[in-house]
Amino acid sequence: MKTINLIGSTGSIGIQTLDVMRAHPETFRLQSMSFGSNMTEALKQAEEFKPAVICTATRELADRLKMQLSYPATVVYGFDGLIYAAAETDGEMLVNAVMGRVGLEPTLKAIEAGKDIAIANKETLVTAGHLVTEAAERRGVKLIPVDSEHSAIYQCLHGNWEKEVETLILTASGGSFRDLSRAELANVTLKDALNHPNWNMGAKITVDSASMMNKGLEVIEAKWLFNMPYDQIDVILHKESIVHSMVEYIDGSVLAHMGTPDMRVPIQYALSEPSRLDLQDSKRLKLWEIGQLHFQKMDFERFRLLQLAYDAGRLGGTAPTVMNAANEVAVARFLDGEISFLQIEEFIERALHNHTPLQAPDLATIVSVDKDTRSSVLTYSK
Ligand code: NDP
Ligand code: MG
Repeated sequence: MKTINLIGSTGSIGIQTLDVMRAHPETFRLQSMSFGSNMTEALKQAEEFKPAVICTATRELADRLKMQLSYPATVVYGFDGLIYAAAETDGEMLVNAVMGRVGLEPTLKAIEAGKDIAIANKETLVTAGHLVTEAAERRGVKLIPVDSEHSAIYQCLHGNWEKEVETLILTASGGSFRDLSRAELANVTLKDALNHPNWNMGAKITVDSASMMNKGLEVIEAKWLFNMPYDQIDVILHKESIVHSMVEYIDGSVLAHMGTPDMRVPIQYALSEPSRLDLQDSKRLKLWEIGQLHFQKMDFERFRLLQLAYDAGRLGGTAPTVMNAANEVAVARFLDGEISFLQIEEFIERALHNHTPLQAPDLATIVSVDKDTRSSVLTYSK
């Protein structure tokens, strides 16, 4: 029986993590869960899984939750509560499924506490990948990818791979606007952006997929998870999302991981690896029904944010921190209907342009650069 702390339980990844746990009650038990403000979903989850610790965003929500719960749980709230739920309970593994850089400190604390980390929360690795990977190595805990591309790569790494991998090849579906030209992007709406062709995900990552920032974040995520230089990380367009990513070895062999697009597959593997478990109701891949798979070279002019992510990654230090913070704020403003789709890109470029990266930043520096970037990008005018 593996005990799990789950932060971000009410989100797209959180809900699917609980689907996986529900299907394997003898294998997994929920020790703690944390959510933001979705009380209806959280109450349902708590009553079903009865975690000992529950965290929510505010004191008021915590008080309401305590009154409605039918069993005695420790209810905590806010940022300190999030860290407590992630790190200070008896869970053996933290599943980090929160959205955004808010996942950084809980991850670091859970690593310190000796827990393995199943990480969906890519913003944490982009913001401070060096701190997370160093801490995991020091403490001897595993950092297991949940993101489908990274899970695919993780599953394609064999033997002496550190010496024998030539290139990690991330596939990109292209998001909601893959068939539009740059000129056509000027008029797209929020509703268009939220309409992803292959995956049903949270709002922020769906917009990130449309802007190709998601793939940029994933390139940096891959650099940290697999300790690979940027020259050995490639991205290709693959609109069917059947090949989830590939690893090319020095002898020219390319190993690919395939499957129908279903996030429960990588989530479940992160929880159970190196073993595999049965996945109920999963749609089996029938290549003869799909018939053809398409691959295309990335156009870095068309998808400028991907180029920008490579540039920020190569600059290193606090550059990815700024890129991520600017993106989080710009996407939130786009979701609020305040700015246009192309302004997301404009604001990120501006924030990076205004910043001189500091190398090897410690946690305090990361937190302060992140905060300053957020305040600036909030004031950028339309
Ligand atoms: P969602 O927006 O669906 O869910 C986010 C979760 O985090 C919710 O439970 C939300 O609570 C909680 N949350 C949000 N902000 C805070 C905060 N400040 N403090 C505490 N909890 C908070 O996101 P997704 O599930 O789509 O994505 C989660 C992460 O996984 C992201 O980093 C994303 O990039 C990554 N990912 C997602 C994939 C997907 O298929 N969705 C695929 C690959 C990676 P509440 O709603 O209750 O307020
Ligand atoms: Mg992904």
